[in-house]
Amino acid sequence: MQRTASGLRADTAARLAELERQRPEWHAWFRLLSEAERALDDAGWRTPLDEAESGDKFVDSEDVPLLNGRALQVDADVAQRLVRRLASTAAVGHLPDAASLRWYRPSAADAVALIEAAVRQDLTELAALADAAGTERGPLMSVAHLAALPLLQSCGRLLADQVPRHWPHGYCPICGAWPILAERRGLDRSRRLRCGRCAAEWEVQWLCCAYCDERDHERLGSLVAEDGGETLKVETCSSCQGYLKSIATLQGIPSFELLLRDLETVELDLVAVQRGYGRPEESRFRLKVRLV
Ligand SMILES: [Zn+2]
Ligand SMILES: [Zn+2]
Repeated sequence: MQRTASGLRADTAARLAELERQRPEWHAWFRLLSEAERALDDAGWRTPLDEAESGDKFVDSEDVPLLNGRALQVDADVAQRLVRRLASTAAVGHLPDAASLRWYRPSAADAVALIEAAVRQDLTELAALADAAGTERGPLMSVAHLAALPLLQSCGRLLADQVPRHWPHGYCPICGAWPILAERRGLDRSRRLRCGRCAAEWEVQWLCCAYCDERDHERLGSLVAEDGGETLKVETCSSCQGYLKSIATLQGIPSFELLLRDLETVELDLVAVQRGYGRPEESRFRLKVRLV
């Protein structure tokens, strides 16, 4: 998805501004997202896979996401600049508990290690890095996940063609994360899961829990927001108590817009959580990937 077009860029900025108007209490979060969105245009993130790393030789099993086993090339200075910028944006914007990030000045190597842990979704390592740096864990994890976005979105673009036509899992075929939402596509009547990190999309069966593969329709349900109509739903599973937001669309949602849609539909998260549903914190697949 080409996303450097200025029209799309202006649209994203306008949507963020509108969200901020509706939810002034999330000001800090919107500023962080804008910062991450700007970083997507940084040429330093565009070529994480050289020729040797972009082939399909790594895929030795149909259960393994495409990024597994690869070495991703990053410019350590670009990584350091982004992590520092996000950390200071979080501190200055008063993200909750982020005051300790004000003094967080990671070396280039530390910034790369932080992004690597975020790409692997290694929460233990992220917590250890926060402890070592003397910062609160939660805000540094938010910074880490956003700092990994430009790299993951580049990987998503470069590997999109290699996603297997039939990927039967709930986790992302490229980066191993759980989907951020499901799309119910009007044109081809398909159900597709979307990754909020690398923006991958993969078609799955209609009645199947993304997290535990439950297919018993009596254990799968849906919730709708009071004024959401049929467009917005929450898919629920009573076997694992998991939920996933589901949006009816005509065609695929552009990559960065997935994050905006996720924010715009936070009412659905509240409805689901109030009913006792949740989203698994850790992905089932632990990705092995290195940043060099
Ligand atoms: Zn992904
Ligand atoms: Zn389930």
